[in-house]
Amino acid sequence: MGDDPSAVMANRAVLGNTQFMNQVHGCDVVVVDHVLEQEPTCDALITTTKGVSLAVMVADCIPLLLISHEAVAAVHVGRAGLINKVAIKALHHMRTLGANQIHAILGPSICGKCYEVPLAMQQDVIAHHPRAFSNTRQGTPALDLPAGLIADLSTEGVSYEASQICTKEDQIYYSHRRENPTGRFAGVVSL
Ligand SMILES: [Zn+2]
Repeated sequence: MGDDPSAVMANRAVLGNTQFMNQVHGCDVVVVDHVLEQEPTCDALITTTKGVSLAVMVADCIPLLLISHEAVAAVHVGRAGLINKVAIKALHHMRTLGANQIHAILGPSICGKCYEVPLAMQQDVIAHHPRAFSNTRQGTPALDLPAGLIADLSTEGVSYEASQICTKEDQIYYSHRRENPTGRFAGVVSL
């Protein structure tokens, strides 16, 4: 919202043969073998086709890239995505497509010290994702989404690397929590 359409188009053109998605904090997974005319509405893209890049756009949520020799995925994981397990759904789908050893890359997102939430919301999330428990530096309730996601991925036997950069604290990255409206940055992956 509030993005300058021509700036968005110009930036996206740089990325060339890249599939974007209309992200809605849902758990739909779409497999593509070419860039579609219209962006699919989903929060996870998978491809087994070389030369097709997948992009996830974020401003505080986690841009998750899942890579293997057989398939790659770009996944949008926010609080809703952690709860609806979109990442695990994408992972399982990759395995049905023959992906063996899957490695996860978590890009920059808002950190557990910055992602302040109401107590009830925190309790709701940690009921199923205890590792997501966090407090802000002021000691108020917060959520550590990357920690929760890493716990899920580890349970699935996936290796991972996670950015230590916080999008709210690092001015290079866009953050909804720091400024609204904001731009978004893309995580891009290809086979
Ligand atoms: Zn932070």
